[in-house]
Amino acid sequence: ITDKINALPEGANYFSLEFFPPKTQMGFANLQSRLERMSQALRPLFVTVTWGAGGSTATKSLELAEICQRQLGLTTCLHLTCTNMSRSLVDEALEQAKVLGIRNILALRGDAPRSEEYREEGQTPEEDSNKDFTWAVDLVRYIRRQYGDYFCIGVAAYPEGHSDESHPEHQSPKTDLPYLIEKTQAGADFLMTQLFFDVDAYDRFEKMLREHESGTFKTIPIIPGLLPIQSYKILRRVTKLSHAKLPADILARLEAVKTDDELVKQVGVKVLGEIVEQLKKSPSPGRRGFHFYTLNLEKAVSHILEDCALIPQPLFEDDNEEAIESTPAIN
Ligand code: FAD
Repeated sequence: ITDKINALPEGANYFSLEFFPPKTQMGFANLQSRLERMSQALRPLFVTVTWGAGGSTATKSLELAEICQRQLGLTTCLHLTCTNMSRSLVDEALEQAKVLGIRNILALRGDAPRSEEYREEGQTPEEDSNKDFTWAVDLVRYIRRQYGDYFCIGVAAYPEGHSDESHPEHQSPKTDLPYLIEKTQAGADFLMTQLFFDVDAYDRFEKMLREHESGTFKTIPIIPGLLPIQSYKILRRVTKLSHAKLPADILARLEAVKTDDELVKQVGVKVLGEIVEQLKKSPSPGRRGFHFYTLNLEKAVSHILEDCALIPQPLFEDDNEEAIESTPAIN
């Protein structure tokens, strides 16, 4: 991923898309054709595949990563969590990723798995007997120790802070900072952020990192995470879970149309477009990336990318024709 970012012209913009593994084979088939369309029409710099806490989606995450990397030829980043995972499961995931040709891992701690995730998978939670991994930094160190520079490693960052079972009290970006420095210095190549809607909060966060006296974050790619708005209900749920603040003006615009899903989507595309444009103007060294939490959906993100002129030109003329022919009208 960082090689691809660095190969872009200075000042260029790029974007990535996140997908999660569907639960059923039918879901996989649907997502595969959607991915084919999206990869041809949108040309993301890379895609990411989520990992269920404790390895609850291990097989399916690897299956989806295989489709992305091998079948569709997309540069793929596999998310990998490490708590409540045996070391053998971590080893297996990394070996499998290597076999599939995947060169990028988003190294995460993860949260305690919800028991229903296992019921769906027919698996049992791994005993957290493995004390090798308590924090994400342990996984970053482990990957570097076992694989050297083979994998490009990303880590999570939280522009508006963080709270979880280990720190039920809210961790502000400042209290989280020493740990972010630690895991970056342990060998992370890029940071990818939690979703947010408050660009001022994000700008303060990036400035704090870029100007940190350690110099750790001076040039490292920091990729802001953005959530295309699919419905008012999903938005409220996701922002609550992620502690993302909805600025009053954005909330008011969405509340005004909240009973009409179609209008919520339209306003959402505008809101996200404004966020992207604002971020393009924020100072950031090198190239500005955008990571979209797609929730496996196509239309909203496609509109945002089109409106913000983020879709790169195809490499060859033929690709263009093929893409046009096979891209259904976005409505
Ligand atoms: P860490 O970096 O380990 O930090 C966790 C908390 O512990 C922080 O509050 C930190 O300040 C604190 N901390 C860190 N080190 C120490 C230390 N040495 N001593 C004391 N405190 C410490 N979850 C999934 O299950 N699957 C996914 O696919 C997934 N993808 C994600 C993608 C992104 C871009 C982001 C932002 C999050 C994702 N998550 C995912 C959620 C993530 O697993 C949770 O937010 C988790 O609670 C923290 O993970 P982390 O990697 O940030 O942990």
